[in-house]
Amino acid sequence: MKPPIRIDPEICTQCGACIPVCPFAAMSERPGEPPAIDLEKCTLCGACAQTCPVEAITIEKKEKTVAASQDDQDVWVYAEWNGKEFQHVTFELLGKARELADKLNQRVGAILFAHPITDAMTRPLIEAGADYVLAADHPDLAAYQDERYAQVLRHLSAAHKPAVILYGATTIGRSLAARVAVPLRAGLTADCTGLDIEPETNLLLQTRPAFGGNIMACIKTPNARPQMATVRPKVMKQRPGDPTRQGKVLLQTLHDALLYSKARRIGFEPQNAFKVNLADADIIVSGGRGLQKAENFALIRELADVLGAAVGASRAAVDADWIPYAHQVGQTGKTVCPKIYIAVGISGQIQHLAGMQSSDIIVAINRDPDAPIFKHASFGIVGDLFQVVPLLTRELKKLLTK
Ligand SMILES: Cc1cc2nc3c(=O)[nH]c(=O)nc-3n(C[C@H](O)[C@H](O)[C@H](O)COP(=O)(O)OP(=O)(O)OC[C@H]3O[C@@H](n4cnc5c(N)ncnc54)[C@H](O)[C@@H]3O)c2cc1C
Repeated sequence: MKPPIRIDPEICTQCGACIPVCPFAAMSERPGEPPAIDLEKCTLCGACAQTCPVEAITIEKKEKTVAASQDDQDVWVYAEWNGKEFQHVTFELLGKARELADKLNQRVGAILFAHPITDAMTRPLIEAGADYVLAADHPDLAAYQDERYAQVLRHLSAAHKPAVILYGATTIGRSLAARVAVPLRAGLTADCTGLDIEPETNLLLQTRPAFGGNIMACIKTPNARPQMATVRPKVMKQRPGDPTRQGKVLLQTLHDALLYSKARRIGFEPQNAFKVNLADADIIVSGGRGLQKAENFALIRELADVLGAAVGASRAAVDADWIPYAHQVGQTGKTVCPKIYIAVGISGQIQHLAGMQSSDIIVAINRDPDAPIFKHASFGIVGDLFQVVPLLTRELKKLLTK
């Protein structure tokens, strides 16, 4: 039987360009001959063929068998630790990973980089669904740094060959996922709203909005491994943890070269705007173009203060410079899932809905009775926001301060 990857000795110049680019160290030099390919290690990712300057490498991809032929099919979640606590999305992803791994009959691994790593950190990961925690405990990994974290994760991925790695679509998750995906030539689907397993192939089905939210695309990554996806916070519901779950903590030994970084971390200064933690808020009051000007956001802030709520905004309000981008809710802003979402002067276009429609209760205030937001609202008030909002603020203040 012909091997699925071949180097044509007539064309190969033995330049060696394909050897270092193989993410799985499957190629090695042979004096006077084209490089040798270790078929046990090769995943047919195609990195060598793309690099070959004379196109001497041919690959015959058997799409369905790539995943099935791999030994290890675990589902990993990058557990995002900020030095004090985990990003909430970590637990949302572990619940989903558990579901996926159960369908694959495989294990869930939580990937934790920090220093020092304690039981108090690993225990919640196991309770949330991890079968093991791959723990890289090193002073150089105490705080997030792109290069180091990506090098270490690429190394762990090449060594353990997970089928799937999930990341939160946070600033760090997005940056890390891209830096792991490109050198591995792995697939990466950003901002997934649904994840499942295709029963016939065991491939990860990654659903996400496309073409401005007008269609939901279902994306598969049949050829490259690992299959990787980012998911925004609050898109997946967190499952209750199970304090009886058992799991292992596997401490990883890291070679110094993996911790090399051209960048030096000097410090971390959070941006003030992000103090408005929309993702964690139980109540959000959002303003849109109906507010007419920046000063009128005071109405939204007053109502939010009374309710102890965070302030959100539509893109129209952000684009008009009435409020910073950190407040934007929607497809290109934050995805939120509060108990109560109050949309004031917001029409309810699909891109806004994409970020808030899973809120438990939606209240819409709009003077247009046909505004699309009313189709999604649990309660609707048709009226002029300049009359309705101050009235609501006054009455709620009376009620809540009694
Ligand atoms: C690729 C892409 C990504 C996008 N991402 C996002 C995103 O992340 N978030 C987002 O929000 N949008 C996003 N948009 C823009 C989106 O399509 C809409 O343009 C935007 O949501 C409209 O904002 P709005 O509802 O505030 O404004 P409008 O659609 O103009 O609605 C204003 C509403 O205010 C009401 N109103 C006016 N005056 C009053 C009054 N006095 N009292 C009561 N009601 C009043 C009107 O009846 C109207 O319904 C995106 C668009 C694209 C193409």
